Amino acid sequence: MCETEIIKANKTNKQVGLDLGLKYFVADSNGNKVEAPKFFRKAQYKLARVQRRLSKKQKGGRNRNKVRQIVAKRHLKIQRQRKDWLHKLSYKYANENDVVIVENLNVSGMIRNHHLALSIQDASWTTFINMLEYKLETLSRVLVKVHPAYTSQKCSNCGTIVKKSLSQRTHYCPECLFTDCRDCNAAKNIKKLGMVHSFGEDTAIAGLTTQEASRL
Ligand SMILES: [Zn+2]
Repeated sequence: MCETEIIKANKTNKQVGLDLGLKYFVADSNGNKVEAPKFFRKAQYKLARVQRRLSKKQKGGRNRNKVRQIVAKRHLKIQRQRKDWLHKLSYKYANENDVVIVENLNVSGMIRNHHLALSIQDASWTTFINMLEYKLETLSRVLVKVHPAYTSQKCSNCGTIVKKSLSQRTHYCPECLFTDCRDCNAAKNIKKLGMVHSFGEDTAIAGLTTQEASRL
């Protein structure tokens, strides 16, 4: 009944690296930056407020029941909105590229946060990657996960380690003078790492895809 159909999609000859972060939900190796939509955060705050109200109401009371219904409804609405947005974004990247390279979130340790808003963001990244993987698979395309070490500190142009604090939004390399937005520089490193790791150095430099690489 729900068999997955594998479609042999046309080749795009394109690969992209994605950096997932708090400032931008996604920054990619082509220089595109995608902010999480406002409703991500706004809805979360609203929800937290209603939940606080709920905790003050008397247990078993009629008011508590009413507020509880409001919470459940809001939850559902936010979930649907978020899923819809993530579907569109993952479709775009799966559709436009033969290979998509992301950080392995399990080892990044980026956010293991007890803060509600951030834990939701964390869950959204996982959902996004799962959607991406599934969509790429159905197109016979590839998702590559890389270890995120040094991806934000390294210069994507010459490989020099350029230390920067979290608040520094621009990458500037004193060695080769390369300048880029912090997250796009990271995305370029992620792309390079994935291409080298999966397809070998020469392939990565030539920018070849899996199918081409396997034919070499
Ligand atoms: Zn450099």
